[in-house]
Parts: sequence; C-alpha cells; structure tokens
Amino acid sequence: MVLEKAGGPLIFRELAQPEPQKGQVRIKVKACSICRTDLHILDQELPPPSFPLILGHQIVGETETDSTRFKKGELVGVPWLGKTCGTCFYCKRGDENLCDNPTFTGYTINGGFAEYCVADEQFIFPLPKDYSPTQAAPLLCAGMIGYRSLKMAGDAKKIGFYGFGAAAHLLIQVARYQKQDVFAFTRKGDTHSQEVAKKLGAVWAKSSEDTPPEELDAAIIFAPIGPLIPTALKAVRKGGSVICAGIHMSDIPSFPYQILWGERIVRSVANLTRKDGEEFLALAPKIPIQTDVKTYPLDQVNQALQDLKDGKLSGSAVILP
Ligand SMILES: [Zn+2]
Ligand SMILES: [Zn+2]
Repeated sequence: MVLEKAGGPLIFRELAQPEPQKGQVRIKVKACSICRTDLHILDQELPPPSFPLILGHQIVGETETDSTRFKKGELVGVPWLGKTCGTCFYCKRGDENLCDNPTFTGYTINGGFAEYCVADEQFIFPLPKDYSPTQAAPLLCAGMIGYRSLKMAGDAKKIGFYGFGAAAHLLIQVARYQKQDVFAFTRKGDTHSQEVAKKLGAVWAKSSEDTPPEELDAAIIFAPIGPLIPTALKAVRKGGSVICAGIHMSDIPSFPYQILWGERIVRSVANLTRKDGEEFLALAPKIPIQTDVKTYPLDQVNQALQDLKDGKLSGSAVILP
C-alpha cells in the first residue's frame, strides 16, 4: 500500500519485488504493526522527503536471501532506524540514534505495509522464538523506543505514563518487572484505558487532569500533546524528569519557571540505537511481555490507521499481508 501524495490515503499498487542492494536483504513481510508516527507522516506533521512511499516500520518477516548475518528463511525484525552513516560526530560517539545522515524505515525508505521489503542487514534483529510474527511486530517500535524512554527515567521508583496506548501497554510490563510503580494518565473520561492500565498493574489510573496521590520521580509522555509537559512537570518531584517519547508533539504552552525549578528535567527521546533493540528483545521473553494486538489484512490499512486516530485501539494494530 503506497502513499502517493501528501495527506494520503494509502493506495493499492502492484510493484516489482524490491531488489536488495549491497548490504541489504530481501524480506517477505509476515506482519507489520502501525505506529503513531505513521499518522504523523500521513497528517503532514512529518512530511516524507519523497513520494511514492510505503509506510510501516515495525516489520516482522522472513529473509529471502542469504547474507553475512542471516541465512535464507530466518525470522527477523526491521525497526524504524534503517541505517546510519557510521562516520558523523554522533555515530562515532555511540549515539547512532542521533546520526546526521540516517535512513528511516517507512519514511525515507520503503517500509512494511507490503508483501516484500528490503533492509540493511546490520540494522535488523533476529527475533526471539517465543513470539509469533503478529505478536512480535509491536515490539519493534512501541517496545524498543518505549524501552529507551524508560531507560531515561533511570532509577525512578514512581513513574507516570501520560497516554496509555501501544507503547505504555508494553512498557508497564517492563516497569513492573523492574519493581517500579506506574501511575497511568489517560484522556479525560477514558475509563476503558484506565481499567486496562490497572489490570496490567498500574497502582493508580486516572485522567491527565487529575493530580496523582504521590509525587512522581519521573514521567514519560507517550501522547503527542504539548500541554502535557507542564502538567507532568507539576507532578514530578525536585530533580525528576519528564521524558517525551514521541517524534512529534503539538506546541508546548508557556509555563511558569517555578514548575521547572528544583532541577527538574524535560527531555525528548529520539529514535533508537541497535543496542536498545537488542537489550529489549533479550528482556521481552524473560518477563515475558505480552502484546495485545488487533490484526487487519493489508488492504484494510487505512481503516487501521483511522482506528488508531480515533482512539479505538486498546493495544497495537498489526497489518498482515
Ligand atoms: Zn514508530
Ligand atoms: Zn551518523
């Protein structure tokens, strides 16, 4: 399914099988999960550099070609970070997530809402056998970038999650495993998400307008809503962090310096490193992280995107070609 012009929708097109270039493998797509970033691309908050484009960057598939790292027929995962330059200031110091010259799957190169894709073999992951392709797909962005966000919270014992969608679903399981207490904040009136959060072990779940019963050590904002930054700052203790996990956010309203004072920190999380992905995939089956998925056939991808936009999904949408 191809995005042909700004604003979408995705249109069905028969394309030639993609040919792997040097260092790439061809992958037969088994499942590809939807991410909020796909909506940001469609809504032109993150305009893609060129059209036509195949979206989708949480891909699980089978290698179709032998390569240095993989044999034909292996199950692999393709994440958002498609490739980095390896030579810029950031790559050299190990911050490849900040590379000056990166490629991103389903954004600067074609992604996984298709039957086949190609990917750089150095940036894809062998997958744990514990997961089916459908179950594994949401681990590749919601899970991995969520995991990087959780790492930024350091040794926080009490963590607020603002927005309880696909990423929060997975990360609350990691937080509980690490003996951290999660306070879940949802849209006003979204009692369903609050119930889900409690079932998954949140110690408290209410709307983002509510004040938590205790001061938080850190807060992670998963929802793309700028006004949540001052809201979360008011909920964290001195020295605490507010971590913005998404790639796009609406504008942040001005706020009194007093709520930042006390060495509180506001930071964003950008992309992922391969190390984040490897660590997370090693951890997932140990917990074990359960994914909550709703599947759609490939030709229903526009419907799946709309359902995410309308807040109708409780976990992750997964597209099956
Ligand atoms: Zn994503
Ligand atoms: Zn670089």
